[in-house]
Amino acid sequence: MKVHVNLSLCQGHARCEEICPEVFATDTVEGKCLILKDIVPDDLLEKARLVVRNCPEGALRLSRDKGAAAEGETA
Ligand code: SF4
Repeated sequence: MKVHVNLSLCQGHARCEEICPEVFATDTVEGKCLILKDIVPDDLLEKARLVVRNCPEGALRLSRDKGAAAEGETA
């Protein structure tokens, strides 16, 4: 799955980074969300989903990564 941030909605609470620092950080200049891994590894998917649900601005979303195997699919 791929994670996307809409920076025009992001208000820089850093809640995303607090919950899942493996994928999210905060830009020190703009103070907004910075995606460290736009393709979320399977072992971080649940955490990433929690982050998306907890973003107060609805600035984050997950989409299927067309380049990767579908969720649950084996290679
Ligand atoms: S929680 Fe949402 S609004 Fe806050 S910094 Fe993260 S992406 Fe931006």
